Amino acid sequence: MKKVMDQGRLSKSDLNRSAILAQLGIAGAASRTDLARLLNLSPALITQLTRDLVSDGLIRETRTLSSSGGRPATLLGLSSEAGTTIGIKVVADHLTFVAMATDGAILMSSTVDFNSSASSILEDLAEKTASFISDSKSSVILGIGVAVPGAVRDSNTGSVDSVTLGWQGIPLGATLARTLSLPVVVENNVNAVAVAEQLYGTGRNFQNFLVVTIGTGIGLSIVIEGDLYRGSRGAAGELGHIEIDPEGPICNCGKKGCLEAVIGQTSLEAAGNDKGLISGEENVGNLANIGRAGNAAAQEIFQTAARHLGTAVSNLVNIFDPEAILVLGEGVSQWDLWSSEFLTTLRSKSLPGALGIPVVVEHWNDASWAQGAASLVLSASRSTNSDIGVQASKIRRRFVAAGVSK
Ligand SMILES: [Zn+2]
Repeated sequence: MKKVMDQGRLSKSDLNRSAILAQLGIAGAASRTDLARLLNLSPALITQLTRDLVSDGLIRETRTLSSSGGRPATLLGLSSEAGTTIGIKVVADHLTFVAMATDGAILMSSTVDFNSSASSILEDLAEKTASFISDSKSSVILGIGVAVPGAVRDSNTGSVDSVTLGWQGIPLGATLARTLSLPVVVENNVNAVAVAEQLYGTGRNFQNFLVVTIGTGIGLSIVIEGDLYRGSRGAAGELGHIEIDPEGPICNCGKKGCLEAVIGQTSLEAAGNDKGLISGEENVGNLANIGRAGNAAAQEIFQTAARHLGTAVSNLVNIFDPEAILVLGEGVSQWDLWSSEFLTTLRSKSLPGALGIPVVVEHWNDASWAQGAASLVLSASRSTNSDIGVQASKIRRRFVAAGVSK
C-alpha cells in the first residue's frame, strides 16, 4: 500500500506546486509562511516546492520593507502575468470558451453554436477555437483545456468516448494540438470541475472529496488524497449509469433503469408531462415553479429524485469516506426542491461516522465550467503523469518562455 501511495504523491506534490502558482496569481505576492498557512502545507514542504519553482523561473522573490521597521520580509510572486489559458466546455449543441489569466480571472468568454453529431466536428471545433483565440488578443497562450461530457480514453491523443455527444474514439486533443500548434489537455467535464475546485474553489480545503453533478446527466468526480481518481480507462465516476430500477426507462447508454434515466432532467420533465403538470414546451424550471407554488404532485417528482440521489450518494460515502460532497450542475437551480429529501436520505443511509459530512451546493454557469477546463492547463503544467507528459512539458516550456519574455 505504501508503494502505491508514494506513486500517488508525485502528482499530489505537482498539484501543490500548481496550487502555489494559483494562490500567488489570485492573491498576489505572499511570504512562505503565508503560503504554508493558506495552503495548509508544512513550512518545510513550502520551502522545497518554492525553491523548485524559483529555479524553474515560474516564481520570483521580491523584498518588502516591514511596516514595523524591522527586517525586510521576502515575498514570492508569479514571474509572469503574461500567460493565458484557454478553456472550452463542449456540450451537444454549443461550445463555451474562456480566456483565463494564471490567477483564475476570466479575461473573455464566448458561447457559440455547435453540432456534436455533424461529420465535420473536429474541423468545426478547431476553426471556432482559432477564431476565439484571435478575438481574445492574448499575447502568450500557455495551452488549451477541453472539458467533455464523456470518458477520455487516452490523454495523449485526447481520445473521447461520449454517449451524450454520440462520439466514439474521437481524437479531439491530437487534432486540436496539431491544427492550432498549442498544447491541449482534454478531460471529462466533472473531473475538470474537480481540478478547478482544488486550484481555486472549496475543494482546496479538502484532500478527499466527491463532486456530484445533476442536470441532464448525473456525474461524479472522485478526489482521493488530493489526486483525481480517473480509473484504468479514464472512465471512473459514471454515477449516472448505475442501475437503480431494473424495470426503469431505457438510458442513452442502452441499459435499463440507470440513475440518469430515472432522475435526469429529461425524466423529471416526462414525469411532469405524464401528470399533466407541464406541457410539451415547458421544462424542469416550469415544473419547479409549480412545486414552489405548493403543488404536491410536482414537489413529489423532485423528492423522489432526491431520494434516489441520496441513496446513491450514501453508497459512495460508505465506500469513499469523503470529507465533503460538492453538488453542482444545471439541476442545482432547483436544489430547494431536492435539498430536504436528499439530506434526510443521505443521513439515514450513511454509516453513523459519516453523519456530519458537509454537502456544499455551488452554482456554476457555462463560463465557470469552461474556467474549469482552462485550469486543466495550469494543473497539467506541473504534472509528471506520463499520460499527459508530452502536453505537460510543452505547457511548461511556454510557461517559462512567458516568464522570460516578461
Ligand atoms: Zn445509462
